[in-house]
Amino acid sequence: MNSLKYLFRNSFRNSLMYSTTRPEGRHLRSSLIIRRMGEGRHGECDCSLCSKTYPLFLLETAHLRPRHSLPKPERITLDCVELMCRVCHSIYDNGFVGVGKEGIIVGRKDLNIYGHLPILSRIGTPYPFYNLRNEQYFSWHYEHVFRRGKIYIHFKR
Ligand SMILES: [Zn+2]
Repeated sequence: MNSLKYLFRNSFRNSLMYSTTRPEGRHLRSSLIIRRMGEGRHGECDCSLCSKTYPLFLLETAHLRPRHSLPKPERITLDCVELMCRVCHSIYDNGFVGVGKEGIIVGRKDLNIYGHLPILSRIGTPYPFYNLRNEQYFSWHYEHVFRRGKIYIHFKR
């Protein structure tokens, strides 16, 4: 029992000492939340991909192009990040969804087996925050991450 207490106390201490928060992460997140929250909303925001409303603790700061592939000066710009729920963030990072030409949300065919996902109803619709500044990041992700799977659906409604 004592060893369990020791383990717990030390793992808690380690999580404080070796925080994985990136230097620019906190600033990007708070700026994004201010930008996306809008008037009259407190403690919740929409996921930029599936459009569902979530409490802020379930929304993550997602890089539209993997952070490691970004030139350092671009890592601190708001244009390369968006708020996504944990599920959409993971699905996007793993290339199951992407944003194609003209800002249309596209999804791989094998995404359909997870029929309950809110993102499925958004495939083929415009990404709400697509613009000239973030287009390059979506385009990089589309070519290098999304298309890597080679099985995808790309249609407009
Ligand atoms: Zn989502």
